[in-house]
Amino acid sequence: MSRPTFRFAPSPNGRLHLGHAFSALLNERMAREAGGRFLLRIEDIDQPRCTDELTQAMLADLAWLGLAWEEPVLRQSAHLARYHAAQQRLRDAGLLYPCFCSRRDIALKAAAHETRDPEGQPVYPGTCRQLSQDEREARLARALPHAWRIVMDDAVARIGEPLSFSEESSGEVVHERACPEAWGDVVLARKDIGTSYHIAVVVDDARQAITHVVRGRDLFQATSIHLVLQQLLALPTLRYFHHGLIDDARGRKLSKSLGSRSLRDLRAEGVTPQDVRRALGF
Ligand code: GLU
Repeated sequence: MSRPTFRFAPSPNGRLHLGHAFSALLNERMAREAGGRFLLRIEDIDQPRCTDELTQAMLADLAWLGLAWEEPVLRQSAHLARYHAAQQRLRDAGLLYPCFCSRRDIALKAAAHETRDPEGQPVYPGTCRQLSQDEREARLARALPHAWRIVMDDAVARIGEPLSFSEESSGEVVHERACPEAWGDVVLARKDIGTSYHIAVVVDDARQAITHVVRGRDLFQATSIHLVLQQLLALPTLRYFHHGLIDDARGRKLSKSLGSRSLRDLRAEGVTPQDVRRALGF
């Protein structure tokens, strides 16, 4: 059996807040209690939103909190070729198609359909899936800007069996049925950056031999997409723990004392790492 391996994987597109601190501390504690490893991954594919300055500030905040992660830290922006290779495999398998729609096109079409994904966004109505091969090639030859989407129904059919994952946040192992169809044909390579969170996260979880994914409840539904990609790319299955978000019940109490200010602001106001840890229950 591989050694239990946990990761905290923030996106440095802003300052870290208490919610990030909670997730990082929880990962570290669970890793320690399991006698496992605690890794840090910087999810900075979204350049230039994820600046180097924000990354450095984030590392400083995490060190200030007293977190100790294993080196080296994986920075996704340095490994784009890996994500492109995974996308290429899916393209070669006939499971991706280029989508030339603008946000506006999608909004107009989707309004008529009214199907929403688990995050409440309109499900892509499949416009570009219907393009003929000739039309597709002609548009690609003209270098029209495009994203790449997965044909979700085909992907699910290709896997051929219902997917489920183990969710351990209740203290027991619960087998959650995945529901990737609810997402429709999600984008796996964005028009602007050429890749996506979903691809990068599954590739790197496997690459770093992660065994336990401990992250916020807001990503619970996205796990269904990750399971599909893990199956299609023959990557290992992981154990999941989606913790409550700090801005719910606990956050309301906390906001009286520490507020929704960034860790950097709290630090500047004289709040200590011990204050933060105590407030978050560590
Ligand atoms: N980078 C993601 C975020 O900051 C988290 C990714 C994950 O834990 O899977 O929301």
